[in-house]
Amino acid sequence: MDQRQTETPAWLAALGGILDLEQSRGFNNRAVSGGVDRFIDRWLEPLNSALAAAGSEEAVRSGEYGEMTPGRREEWAKGLRAVLFPRDDALSPGDDDISGIEPPDAPDFPIKPGSRTESGPPVESGPLPGDKGETAAPAPSPPTKTAGRELPDPPYSRPPAGLTVDVPVDRLRGVDAKLSERLGRLGVRSIRDLLYLFPRRHSDYTRVVKIAEVEPDADCTVIGHVWETREVSLGRNGRLKATEAVLSDETGNVRVIWFGQRYIARSLKTNSRVAISGRASRNQGRLVFESPDYEPLQEGQTPIHTARLAPVYPLTAGLTGRNLRRLVWQALRQWLGGVEETLPQEIRSRAGVMPLPQAIMQAHFPEDAEAATTARRRLAFEELFTLQLAVLSRRRQWSQGLEGVRIKADPQVIGKFIESLPFPLTGAQRRCVDEILGDLKRGSPPMNRLLQGEVGSGKTVVVLTALMAAAAAGYQGAIMVPTEVLAEQHFRTIGNLLSGLARPVQEEHRVTAYMESLGRPVSVGLLTGSTGQRARRELTGLAAEGQLDLLVGTHALIQSGVEIPNLALAVMDEQHRFGVLQRSALRQKGVENPHSLVMSATPIPRTLSLTLYGDLDISVIDELPPGRQTIRTRWLEPDRRDAAYGFVRRQVSEGRQAFIIYPLIEESEAVDSKAAVDDHQRLSEEVFPDLKVGLLHGRMASREKDRVMRQFRDGELDILVSTAVVEVGIDVPNATVMMVEGADRFGLSQLHQFRGRVGRGEHQSYCMLMSDDPSTVARERLSALEHIDDGFELAEEDLRLRGPGDFFGTRQSGLPDLRMASLSDRDLLETARREASRLMEVDPGIEAEEHRALSRQVARFLEHASGEVS
Ligand code: ADP
Ligand code: MG
Repeated sequence: MDQRQTETPAWLAALGGILDLEQSRGFNNRAVSGGVDRFIDRWLEPLNSALAAAGSEEAVRSGEYGEMTPGRREEWAKGLRAVLFPRDDALSPGDDDISGIEPPDAPDFPIKPGSRTESGPPVESGPLPGDKGETAAPAPSPPTKTAGRELPDPPYSRPPAGLTVDVPVDRLRGVDAKLSERLGRLGVRSIRDLLYLFPRRHSDYTRVVKIAEVEPDADCTVIGHVWETREVSLGRNGRLKATEAVLSDETGNVRVIWFGQRYIARSLKTNSRVAISGRASRNQGRLVFESPDYEPLQEGQTPIHTARLAPVYPLTAGLTGRNLRRLVWQALRQWLGGVEETLPQEIRSRAGVMPLPQAIMQAHFPEDAEAATTARRRLAFEELFTLQLAVLSRRRQWSQGLEGVRIKADPQVIGKFIESLPFPLTGAQRRCVDEILGDLKRGSPPMNRLLQGEVGSGKTVVVLTALMAAAAAGYQGAIMVPTEVLAEQHFRTIGNLLSGLARPVQEEHRVTAYMESLGRPVSVGLLTGSTGQRARRELTGLAAEGQLDLLVGTHALIQSGVEIPNLALAVMDEQHRFGVLQRSALRQKGVENPHSLVMSATPIPRTLSLTLYGDLDISVIDELPPGRQTIRTRWLEPDRRDAAYGFVRRQVSEGRQAFIIYPLIEESEAVDSKAAVDDHQRLSEEVFPDLKVGLLHGRMASREKDRVMRQFRDGELDILVSTAVVEVGIDVPNATVMMVEGADRFGLSQLHQFRGRVGRGEHQSYCMLMSDDPSTVARERLSALEHIDDGFELAEEDLRLRGPGDFFGTRQSGLPDLRMASLSDRDLLETARREASRLMEVDPGIEAEEHRALSRQVARFLEHASGEVS
């Protein structure tokens, strides 16, 4: 017992070292390259077992460390230490050289504390002369070479009569209320949900070896007899309980230890035959398996934890990977026959995908790596196909039988208007104008279009031209934007654009100009929350009488009391800020079924926009007006921060202004705002005490935000510290520096948008990206920004590097939850699109008998999708 107590397992010692290192570096999550969570992930199960064994109620969650603020990390580390290393608050700080610490999957994780000598003869598992003969394990079947092959489909058991796989998951043996609740945290309520809870990956335990052949740090499976088992106490004070066993086969024996799992000692009978899978490590010269997967072997029973590709599921507190494997296995065995095939045979064979029940089975417990891949492909195809069908049927619903207004613009009026503009339109702007005017002219179904173009590409003039067409035909238009400052800005831009017409009159809330080709003046109003009573009464009065051609504003536009009876063209800027409901509220202000145009400054790769906005027509302004400056962009490591501040200071002393964007810490504005508030204090008191430093964050009232934004716009502030809320479209020509903290946490597209907020004036502008993450991917991403100026190109790059899940940085855009599919898989996406359109042609309502399972699948999908897809 005594000598055992000094024997801290290697990973635990490593964890101690990591915590020390984190502490010495202010919990900056750099002790492990790629982040502490990489280490945690690798050792999650033994760690949680050890915590449980030491009496902790709390479990550690995968990914949580990276999400915490340094302050919370410190608490977290303290808590962990108190449980795992109760008496060693004074552990010597680790080596400060982070470059010495490799990612945990590198061989021989070198961490100073607790490291031991690796010399000395192997004691228990030394190679013995013995044959490397046949393995007793169920040998993995040889891989077959046909992609999309159909394996012989065994008859899967069906649910009991009258039941479907949509019954609650507690139907399964062993699932009580508590377990149900835990499964619920993984989104699993029904048996179907459990069948669709796919593993994140598989551990490859297919290599079955003799004990003498075990090598350290490589996954393998050993089959042997239990020599002995016992319960032991580990850790400095013996509080960490464990099971220790010795396993033997004809070539030798090996020590196995499970932390915190004393019951295992009872479940592994001496002399019984068991398989263990995992990787051995060297501990004082001997090989030992630490918390491997294990399984008593019985005749005729398929192993699910060992000697195969074993599924690794997302974990939640109180639910081990082992539990999940057993439950999923049970569900597969008893209920899989209740999952109906959704794809008609014809589509399956054209797309080359396997039947659904088989795919579900193979996605969990694949026969081999190839089967796992083909299964995922089938499931991915199904997701994309369903998504496409959902989008296409929405589009159909929208357009079916909807009568829109025909707006025939007199080409002469439009031509004269374009001539009056202070600049010629770019080719891309012309094309977009034509597309929009085409929709208006056709009338039905009403236009439902997305106008995409990055910041500064000139969307406003395109929209204004369309609105002039509506005005010329006697209709009204409206532009709704998310904030007052943006509304003011649009209003001002429009004022400038109209200044080429005759007799322009610009007032605070109204602009009028005479259109000769029309023979009457056009007038544009600005209505926001801070419009005064008198102006408001005047504007709403004019709008209600149809006297106002165009109303620009915020949410104020959709409040009651605002009537725009002839509204035929409703334009919304930055659509993700407006819910579907607000968009339809605006449309209801006017004629029946007004045309709808959504402006977005987010460049979205075509594959993605086809998928997400498949129900909208898309116009893209893919060309910037001539003469735009390139913004000099550099990414900097944290030790250059002072130099960056110095740069900001120099620009300010030359009369310029700077943005400092505070990083995205969580998908929570509360947390991000707090971080920005803290940093604002530091910057204004310590770094720039002599400058005027403003603060903008999402927890401020919108009035307050508008006030700060105006101050910055009007030059009353030198530096604006902000969270990501700072307006996409804001125009501050005097701002020349954009500094982004924690840049690696933002998507490239988002960074590009931040960058677009400078370089709007005559002065050379700069973008500095501060990155704490030294990983290769982060470097690659950030350096893409240094040399790519084109938003769409960056968006493609982002999609390539990070995949669609992260594409938007947050889930704000209503990107549906795709579990298997990657939107960067163009081929599969194209196939899915093609098949979906084909199906919609033959069965537009998805009502045919052979499509019933499919239509239910689409309905389920729409239920899950946030309703933001359109
Ligand atoms: P966006 O809304 O797409 O960010 P804006 O419509 O605000 O861009 O246009 C940005 C600026 O570029 C405005 O000052 C506008 O007057 C100007 N602009 C737009 N189109 C052109 C063009 N074809 N040539 C020159 N300048 C243009
Ligand atoms: Mg704009």
